[in-house]
Amino acid sequence: MMFEKIVLDYLKAGTNSDNDPEKNQQILVANLFGFIGYSITLLMGITAILRQDYLLAIVLLVASSLFFSSRLILGNKSLKNPYRFSGTMVTVSLMLLMIYLVYAGGVQGTGPLWIYIVPPVALFFGGMRKGSRNLGIFVLLISMILFYPNDKLLLATYSLEFKSRLLYSFLTVSLLFAFYEYSRQKSYRLSQEISRKFENQARLDLLSNLLNRRGMTEVLETEFSRSKRHHTDLSIIMCDIDHFKLINDQYGHQVGDDVIVQIGRIFNNELRQHDNVARWGGEEYLVLLPETNIQQAYSIAEKLRLKIEKQDFNQQQQGFTVTVSMGVYQITAEDSINHAITLADNGLYQAKNSGRNRTVIYTEQSSC
Ligand code: GH3
Ligand code: MG
Ligand code: MG
Repeated sequence: MMFEKIVLDYLKAGTNSDNDPEKNQQILVANLFGFIGYSITLLMGITAILRQDYLLAIVLLVASSLFFSSRLILGNKSLKNPYRFSGTMVTVSLMLLMIYLVYAGGVQGTGPLWIYIVPPVALFFGGMRKGSRNLGIFVLLISMILFYPNDKLLLATYSLEFKSRLLYSFLTVSLLFAFYEYSRQKSYRLSQEISRKFENQARLDLLSNLLNRRGMTEVLETEFSRSKRHHTDLSIIMCDIDHFKLINDQYGHQVGDDVIVQIGRIFNNELRQHDNVARWGGEEYLVLLPETNIQQAYSIAEKLRLKIEKQDFNQQQQGFTVTVSMGVYQITAEDSINHAITLADNGLYQAKNSGRNRTVIYTEQSSC
């Protein structure tokens, strides 16, 4: 248990719950690669010392310290993108180590066997484009060392068959990993797109395509805190269609639905870009007006009300009109959102009680 926690804490260093999950996953893998890289090279370095192969030992120990510092970089706040820097460092250290192992042969010519670690690491940290480019450079360097005339760039001795098979198999593994990375990125992007789409849909009302209660609540919270921060005005309008039951009874539920949609369109057409409107209930709308005081909100509400009143809702040659009642309220910094909505609702209630088809500004006095 304790061991598991230590390992997890180690691997999670540098991750942040605010990050996108893909980035956290990459940081986690960077830690894992860094850890494996530095512990294996450290062990191999120590055994090289014991074998008195000092040059190999130095190379391995330098690589080990580079892998280790890639982890320290992850915690460096002064770097703009420590993860990317750390990933590049792991990749470059690994490539240099591999080039050395191919050149020197490692223990009895087994050094080149390690180069298959390069493709997954390079592609994971560099992504498809940069990773493939880095792999291309690596292949060029390795080919040059392996096939330079008279083995002038090689310390170890390999047969021609070994060199060519090493290169072919390396290219095969690289291609397979590139394909894998490409599919992984593609399905990640697809899943991101789908979840964004679902998130958007969950904020919208199916019938009118306006924001629904959930979507509007989010916008209300954002705008309310913005208005408090910048000391700007913020007003809301609660709007309800008058005698809507009669429209349903007279023309049918489908026509009722069309009216709800059309009134939503009028709101959308008449309001400013930064205003928001939601279908708050069955035949009820909530309008949010940032940077708007109560008098301005009243004028907007009246403009909307008159526009709706004049609209001809034509149904199979049978024209009819619809009216709405509105309650307007300017939110103060001391309000809560729920309280503000209740007060706008009170204004609406007064508009209904005093004859409908009108706008009432809710003030503390008007409630007395
Ligand atoms: P008031 O002027 O007092 O608001 O009267 P009203 O008839 O509009 O109000 P009431 O609350 O009595 O009735 C609202 C009606 O709206 C009842 C309900 O069937 C209808 N309604 C609610 N949602 C929908 C909907 O999505 N589509 C349709 N067609 N009708 C709906
Ligand atoms: Mg109504
Ligand atoms: Mg109603």
